[in-house]
Amino acid sequence: MSECLFCRIIAGEIPSTKVHETETVLAFRDINPQAKVHVLVVPKAHHEDAAALSGDPQLLADVIAGAAEVAGIEGIAESGYRLVFNTGDDACRTVFHAHLHVLGGEQLAGFGR
Ligand code: 5GP
Ligand code: ZN
Repeated sequence: MSECLFCRIIAGEIPSTKVHETETVLAFRDINPQAKVHVLVVPKAHHEDAAALSGDPQLLADVIAGAAEVAGIEGIAESGYRLVFNTGDDACRTVFHAHLHVLGGEQLAGFGR
């Protein structure tokens, strides 16, 4: 059994609320949402972080396309949304399986405005 939390969610060993799925990516609701819409898009193959994921450009593209699909499903494609990859300690990254946060459904704080 994998010790990686998101590998275990992908394997169905830990329940999650699925929003979207393809052959290569899974999107599910964040357990502690930071916006009205907060979905995580993860590659099914384990990569530690975004930098590692960039070693597989097609899979990285699949993750970003998955986020766009999620935005359509959640009805925020027009109103706008934020995509975030947290990497390393300064970003408070907590899960060591690459994941793209999709945040939206309300006005988000701007950067410096
Ligand atoms: P990070 O800080 O590593 O970028 O984000 C990890 C995210 O995973 C956090 O927003 C956290 O709320 C979410 N998370 C942690 N454990 C679980 C879980 O068991 N299920 C789900 N759906 N999300 C989780
Ligand atoms: Zn993993």
